[in-house]
Amino acid sequence: MVPGAPYVRFAPSPTGELHLGNIKAAVINWLFAQAHGGHFLLRIDDTDTERSTQAFEDAILRDLRWLGLDWDSFARQSERTASYEAAIQQLQDSGRLYACYETPEELNRKRGLQRAAGRPPVYDRTGLRLTDAERAALEAEGRRPHWRFLLDRKRVRWDDLVRGPQDVDAASLSDPVLIRADGRPLYTITSVVDDGETGISHVIRGEDHVANTAAQIQLFEALGHPVPIFGHFALIVENDGSPLSKREGSRTVQALREQGIEPLALVSLLSRLGTAQPVEAFADHAAAVAGFDLSTFGRAAARFDERELAKLSATLVHGLEVSQASARLGEEIDPALWEVVRGNLERLEDVRDWQAVVNQPLEPVLENPDLTARAADLLPTEPLDGESWGTWTKAVRAETGAKGRDLFRPLRLALTAREHGPEMKALLPLIGRERAARRLRGETA
Ligand code: GLU
Repeated sequence: MVPGAPYVRFAPSPTGELHLGNIKAAVINWLFAQAHGGHFLLRIDDTDTERSTQAFEDAILRDLRWLGLDWDSFARQSERTASYEAAIQQLQDSGRLYACYETPEELNRKRGLQRAAGRPPVYDRTGLRLTDAERAALEAEGRRPHWRFLLDRKRVRWDDLVRGPQDVDAASLSDPVLIRADGRPLYTITSVVDDGETGISHVIRGEDHVANTAAQIQLFEALGHPVPIFGHFALIVENDGSPLSKREGSRTVQALREQGIEPLALVSLLSRLGTAQPVEAFADHAAAVAGFDLSTFGRAAARFDERELAKLSATLVHGLEVSQASARLGEEIDPALWEVVRGNLERLEDVRDWQAVVNQPLEPVLENPDLTARAADLLPTEPLDGESWGTWTKAVRAETGAKGRDLFRPLRLALTAREHGPEMKALLPLIGRERAARRLRGETA
């Protein structure tokens, strides 16, 4: 790491699959670290023990590896409880933590009354005013306290890397709950303790966390940590402006991978979505790093267009060398076949389909059996080359009178059983004379 370079983190909670919304944070933080010779920490925020699972953690690691976003260090919040306990003690000693006993229903009722009276639903600090006797009485009822952080009711200001100068009146915020009634610390504090102790220099995350930031800045200060630089990027929405979360299932990294989307297509798209810069297909991570500029991210909602992603992905597939394509698929691809079909592929996996067309028996589609049978008789002898198709189809035309679509469509369908595909003049030599002749006569070959 370059001295003074950014130290950033991606901190997913293993309570679900990674999706477009949360990998944007991974992509931006990773590119930012790479672009400045910095450090990228992967931190698993697994304090929610009821919802966190090992399977989701494994899936996060698998998805990040697939995206090529390797991490310089790794941490798990569930292994850092001693640090959280020490921080909680520190806040308690400085009088910044207080016990509250309201149930969720009671809090809801309070908020309802505040709203009805035209007041903002800010927690009224009842817990702060309880006497020892009142506390004892509540505990005798069997109530366990949860603990809130006493905010300093002043204005909190920060210069957001994406949103510009921010100014939040802490009096408009409820004192955040830091510890649940069952004793477990919540994200609001664990994240600050980790960021503070790790020396995170920049917290770059989605704008859904803006409301946390004012309280977290006060927590950094209360714990004696330097306050990091914050940046909150706009959330991704569907192309029609609707929230992404409704269709999360189809927006997971796993689902996109299964659709055959290239990992670099996602990195390319997410590095530009929400900026004024055009989306480019970066052929490798180094190009994505070179093309990355955090200062170009803006506040406007980032619209996700799946056709744009599919197009980017296809562009990247077209640009792969045969060695790269073979490595990605884990099987040897014939270089001659690759050259012929790559420009036609939407997904890398589709090369298997064309491999089968060329090498495996297929059931031909005979639209005009007379024509194709006569064409079979006219096939030139081996070796077939790039000229053979032209010579042959001229001869078939001369013999049958068929031309244009009436000529080419039945030939393509008989030879490939597909309506579209790479140029026939390039495919024919790969199919070979013998197989072509049999297909043209309607045999499975
Ligand atoms: N675990 C939090 C989340 O997934 C991290 C947020 C943050 O970056 O501070 O939303």
